[in-house]
Amino acid sequence: MTGAKGATRRDVMTAAAALALAGFGLRPRPLFAATGLPLGELEVSVLSDGHLTLPMDFVLPQTTKEEIEALFAPHGLPTDALKPPLNVTLLRGGDRLILFDAGSGPRFQDTAGALPSALEAAGIDPSEVTDVVFTHCHPDHLWGVLDDFDEPLFAEATHWMPQDEWAYWRDEGTLAATPEARKSFVVGAQNRLAAIEDFVTLVRPGDELPLGIEALATFGHTPGHTSYVIHGGGDSLLVTGDALTNHLFSFERPDWPSGTDQDPQMGAATRKSLLERIATDRMRIVGYHLPEPGIGTAERKDGAYRFVPAA
Ligand SMILES: [Zn+2]
Repeated sequence: MTGAKGATRRDVMTAAAALALAGFGLRPRPLFAATGLPLGELEVSVLSDGHLTLPMDFVLPQTTKEEIEALFAPHGLPTDALKPPLNVTLLRGGDRLILFDAGSGPRFQDTAGALPSALEAAGIDPSEVTDVVFTHCHPDHLWGVLDDFDEPLFAEATHWMPQDEWAYWRDEGTLAATPEARKSFVVGAQNRLAAIEDFVTLVRPGDELPLGIEALATFGHTPGHTSYVIHGGGDSLLVTGDALTNHLFSFERPDWPSGTDQDPQMGAATRKSLLERIATDRMRIVGYHLPEPGIGTAERKDGAYRFVPAA
């Protein structure tokens, strides 16, 4: 868990490096995105696994440059690529220490895989994690289950896996049915799922997990994609996973087909019904790729929605 890459990352996070970066007007990405938000007796934190770089024509392959420009330019955001953060939710309550998704691990993108460093900075040994609850099996959510030596990182934890997700990625026909550019996602998932098989407990929509966590089917991004509602103190927080991936187009143009959704039509339908529920119930959400720390809500706007970050 303390391989060369982790040490390098920690070096980068030293105060001296931070000051040097500050001198150039840059700021290092925080290991903590947010800490200690109370939810009744429970406590929610968000840890950073770093960020990804995704070309825009991969993210929105069916949307014209002009449409993308019109949505992004007023926010001063580049339109050639996205650099989405990776927000890993950590829930404490009773004798449980629960992670939602496991980050990217050491073999996906160089700017990702920071979760072990973030846990260390939080004073948490991976062996203390009692549960890892998965939304889906894309690399940035699953591949962090293995450490630098390809050993299970959370060896004491129950790994809660959506049943339909488990079935899809383990199916012998999935690799052949997957386009060439994404076959590495399938091989990568199959290797990781085989390595954690002994720790896996399957989850179905409507199931109740430890601490009363409720599993909610949000299929489309992947065949078994699942979001989770954390209930505490008469309040709730929805861990959306990748049902909502971007603070602009997922909310303001939920109808746009997403290149990262494996079923773009179902993904769009799921997005719209989820946004409607969030806006109606004024639900707080935490989004894996929404601006750090990913916490906020959705409001109705111009026939669609807008993301409102938490104050
Ligand atoms: Zn995903």
